[in-house]
Amino acid sequence: MRRPLLAPLLLLAPIACRSAGGGGGGAAADGRAQRQQASRPDWVLVVHGGSGKRLDPDLEPQYRAGVEAAMRRGAEQLERGGSSLDAVEAVVSLLEDDPLFNAGKGAVFTHAGTHELDAAIMSGRDRAAGAVAALRTVRHPIRLARLVMERTPHVLLVGEGAEAFATAMGVERVDNSWFDTPRRRRQLEEEIERQHRQAAPTGASMGTVGAVALDRAGHLAAATSTGGTTNKLPGRVGDSPLVGAGTWADDASCAVSGSGKGEQFIRHAAAARVSMLMAYGGRTLAQAADDVIGSVLRPDDGGLIAVGSDGSVAMPFSTEVLVRGVVDARGRFEVAIGHP
Ligand code: ASP
Repeated sequence: MRRPLLAPLLLLAPIACRSAGGGGGGAAADGRAQRQQASRPDWVLVVHGGSGKRLDPDLEPQYRAGVEAAMRRGAEQLERGGSSLDAVEAVVSLLEDDPLFNAGKGAVFTHAGTHELDAAIMSGRDRAAGAVAALRTVRHPIRLARLVMERTPHVLLVGEGAEAFATAMGVERVDNSWFDTPRRRRQLEEEIERQHRQAAPTGASMGTVGAVALDRAGHLAAATSTGGTTNKLPGRVGDSPLVGAGTWADDASCAVSGSGKGEQFIRHAAAARVSMLMAYGGRTLAQAADDVIGSVLRPDDGGLIAVGSDGSVAMPFSTEVLVRGVVDARGRFEVAIGHP
């Protein structure tokens, strides 16, 4: 039970030695440091473009292309020695500009025919976090989330207050209708029609985006951005901007970004639960992530991407698809959508 708990702590030891000048442990410690260093890729990036029902086959190549472009953007930064925090922000902000994804441009509609955007970013190094919810005019919610983290003593800003903060920070603004796309409007009409028939709501809306990364310095970070669920009540906030529910990073265990039925992720503190199962339950990353998606949450609730401090990766999902990709310093570059 104890071994998996020790592994991440041991992994951090060589990093601590290096930053202190590389000395201190003698030959045995140096040898151990080298072996541990060799056992994980220098950096790892995992990206998702949402969980949900099977995609329209025409859209699949576009989803793949969007995720691949984002992976390349993040990989370049991590390869150059950039931080995991910068990489996940860059990846998510690129996907916020892609109208295919339910984040930024292309976000789903609320019941009122408007858009309300949520995002969060978290640093595993010090558990600093920033989040925004119910934004209406900020082009890149993830950038504002980062500014909440770095320029305020707070973690989460919502609605009017978040908009005022955006003005103070001078971030790029757009009219709410700028986020409109015909595809998302059709989805709103279908969802309202379904509601009239008293059919069950679909609950989630394909295309939330997220990224988790491990950088060369051994630090983890996570970021998630979404328009939430189609036909949501104005003011509804999902799991994505809630630290511990849809977004989480802690260098001692893992970084997580989720996608699915937000209310379920909130009820079960899904993202933090993966980390806690590792830290207190002795699970590996894969076991902890599978437990949360396969046992704690219900079938069809969603999926998550996660990277451990040892460079391990997990991407479980109980929906038909999770658009996902992983790239690392050893040349791995894989994108997948459905179940293997
Ligand atoms: N989790 C998001 C939310 O509930 C939606 C999704 O990931 O599809 O806001």
